Amino acid sequence: FMLMSGYLRNVGENIRMLQRGLDDVEDVANFARQAPQVRDVAGARPFAGELGEIVFDKVTFRYKSADEPIYQDFSLRIRPGERVALVGPTGAGKSTFVKLIQRLYDVQGGRILIDAQDIAHVDQGSLRRAIAVVPQDPALFHRTIAENIGYARPEATLAEIELAARRARAHEFIARLPRGYETLVGERGVKLSGGERQRVAIARAFLADAPILVLDEATSSLDVETERQVQAAMEELMVGRTTIVIAHRLSTIRSADRILVFDDGRIVEEGRHAELVGRGGAYARLHAVTQGAAE
Ligand code: ADP
Repeated sequence: FMLMSGYLRNVGENIRMLQRGLDDVEDVANFARQAPQVRDVAGARPFAGELGEIVFDKVTFRYKSADEPIYQDFSLRIRPGERVALVGPTGAGKSTFVKLIQRLYDVQGGRILIDAQDIAHVDQGSLRRAIAVVPQDPALFHRTIAENIGYARPEATLAEIELAARRARAHEFIARLPRGYETLVGERGVKLSGGERQRVAIARAFLADAPILVLDEATSSLDVETERQVQAAMEELMVGRTTIVIAHRLSTIRSADRILVFDDGRIVEEGRHAELVGRGGAYARLHAVTQGAAE
């Protein structure tokens, strides 16, 4: 029996290892699916910059499968540390804008400069490290929570990971998990709620400490307390960074330095909240609709 249980334990171990192997394959596959259709140019240099100034210089961009370009000779400058909210209906071009900043696609005309460097000419890995992304519905790897937070910076110590989690208002719920930071999460691990996964993503972003932050605000509402914590964490995260938010919350939009109003793949208006409401154009109409929905 002893032999048998030892054998079974081995089988168990092996299955776990196999499982882990499969998860690795899955992670790679997932990553490959999101991987861009862009290549580093010969002699691409690492991105070097910490200001977070973003310049679109006469950019023309068209998705390969589309007939018409989304952007044509499009120019825009986002100042270091500026908070920009992107608003507009679905399909208006907000995600495309943030994808181009991350260079998930190359543009066909013009240039996108970050800290005066043409992003088409820099090493992709280094560019990704300069831009922290907090997605609307963050996916977690089937790994420990510590690994999930730390993967943005593999050399991070546990103390650094915990600090990031505290700033992300995630430490408390993590401490309550069965094995704390060593708890396995993700598909076959402990399931975290949407608000918890968001805070893990925020912790990653704190740890990454990138000059540029891309936030895709959740459309689904969280409970009041979670919402408050996520908001507080986001506020702290945004300090001193250039932030581009695909915004759904009125509070985020109101506090933005600049709102870019997208419609049909174009920026049709830009300005601050009060200014745009006063103008009585696309934003004012959009605002009336969202306020109506909120009431
Ligand atoms: P939003 O984020 O505002 O919902 P998107 O940037 O996702 O808008 O989309 C802008 C336009 O580009 C839409 O017409 C959309 O159908 C199109 N589009 C988005 N992604 C792709 C793609 N990968 N290939 C072709 N067209 C796309």
